[in-house]
Amino acid sequence: MNEPWQPSGAAGPVARLIEELHRLPGIGPKSAQRLAYHLLRATRNEAQALAEAIVEVKERIVLCTVCQNVTDVDPCLICADEGRDRSLVCVVEEPLDILAVERTRGYRGLYHVLHGSISPMEGVGPEQLKVRELLERLRDGTVHEVIMATNPNLEGEATAMYIGRLLQPLGVRVTRLARGLPMGGDLEYADDLTLARALENRQEV
Ligand SMILES: [Zn+2]
Repeated sequence: MNEPWQPSGAAGPVARLIEELHRLPGIGPKSAQRLAYHLLRATRNEAQALAEAIVEVKERIVLCTVCQNVTDVDPCLICADEGRDRSLVCVVEEPLDILAVERTRGYRGLYHVLHGSISPMEGVGPEQLKVRELLERLRDGTVHEVIMATNPNLEGEATAMYIGRLLQPLGVRVTRLARGLPMGGDLEYADDLTLARALENRQEV
């Protein structure tokens, strides 16, 4: 069961494809095999479209210089949206968390993506995250409230506390998502209603 898994018995290029697919999150050996054989049966055009989509994200996607979200236009569509409340910034760990908050349809402010959370265990400190960029954004006084929407787990809490303390001297209101999100969970998987409520009932850090 726990032996390192190898796609034995498959032809070289097929084995390589299975191995690459197996590296993706959530793809076990069986799924990798199924996907590989699915792609083998696909038309050349279908396979080409997938390959090109993968290459294109690597070539065309950059980080928004304002919020650090992944984007193909800079500033990103959210930062460029004039209808958004520029006095509110919701700080999240990963770009996918923005999608989770957007799904609640209750938030009309801006975002800031840290690209991770503080984790001494994994050697991730604030200097590896987009914290400096956040401080720089707050300089001109447009932002009045920073909502810490980091994950409801140890690292997320520590990150929220650290940034809260860092922002204190700036006179910006710092709030944290209300309890009620499943502890140890991931914002990305929170259901829309729970997340909407946690946003609504946010509390001062
Ligand atoms: Zn942006």
